[in-house]
Amino acid sequence: MKKYQFAVIGHPIVHSISPFVHNRLFEIVKVNAEYKMLDIKPESLEYSMGILNTLDGYNVTIPHKYGIINFLDDISNKARLYQSVNTVKNVGRSVGYTTDAYGFLNGIDYEEIDAYGRVVIVGAGGVASVIAHELAEKNCEVVIAARDSGMKKAATLVRSLKENMEECKASFCKIEDISGDVNLLINATPVGMYPDKESSVVGDDTLKRCRQVYDLVYNPYETKLVRAAKSFGIKAAGGLSMLVYQAVLAHKIWDGSEYSDSDIKQLILDCHSQIDRGFE
Ligand code: NAP
Repeated sequence: MKKYQFAVIGHPIVHSISPFVHNRLFEIVKVNAEYKMLDIKPESLEYSMGILNTLDGYNVTIPHKYGIINFLDDISNKARLYQSVNTVKNVGRSVGYTTDAYGFLNGIDYEEIDAYGRVVIVGAGGVASVIAHELAEKNCEVVIAARDSGMKKAATLVRSLKENMEECKASFCKIEDISGDVNLLINATPVGMYPDKESSVVGDDTLKRCRQVYDLVYNPYETKLVRAAKSFGIKAAGGLSMLVYQAVLAHKIWDGSEYSDSDIKQLILDCHSQIDRGFE
């Protein structure tokens, strides 16, 4: 029986939980596959395409989500819009997709978090752009909050939102200048991620004005931001649900696999235990 070959590429990639998630998703639908972790530096990406093109498919994480586009035969419309690829399928030709939007929307749904009205996204990188466009589509007012070095990216993102959606209400500010009431605050930066567990991207004064918080960071399972939000009685969750849902869509793209809600829920719970054990 053929053993299909998959991988995740990124740099650095030592703490990735992706092999655990994807191996479980292959097991559930009884696909005989091997899923490897490949640490590839940006300057080695072009050279690595020879190996990557021999795989049946692969996932792409930081810092290659944009750079990989140059080396693919085609990309989906969403990947083109967001200039971001996190899933590649090789079927004679290499095609790139992004499953982050699906992961985010299903992830917040799973956590019973509502995206409505004024939403603040902290960070102006790749995933912030995906989420900002999706929320603007849902008629949310989007505020991008960035640190000094990210202000240019924040301005570009807001311009792109307004160009793509005429009616869209979008603006940007410095993180320390987040003002007013916030229906949903999303952390789309690595702040708070292991080993930087004692950092939080916003202070308590800002947090207390938020109704809900979704932190894309999933290691630790509950970041300092999520713990602080909960201590103020704010509905808050980490990004594990998004991680699992974006992986689920990757499998659908690779081989048409479908998963039940109970399989997905169980996988999210098992990832939680895995994270608590430090991915061993
Ligand atoms: P990215 O393109 O590298 O963007 C990172 C953003 O974070 C940039 O705007 C960067 O600002 C900002 N940032 C970095 N360090 C910061 C700090 N100390 N203070 C304030 N802002 C800071 O990365 P990405 O792909 O968008 O991913 C962002 C985060 O989301 C990562 O932690 C990633 O692991 C997580 N993520 C989670 C999932 C999930 O499934 N849960 C999926 C995708 C991504 P500058 O431009 O100023 O550097």
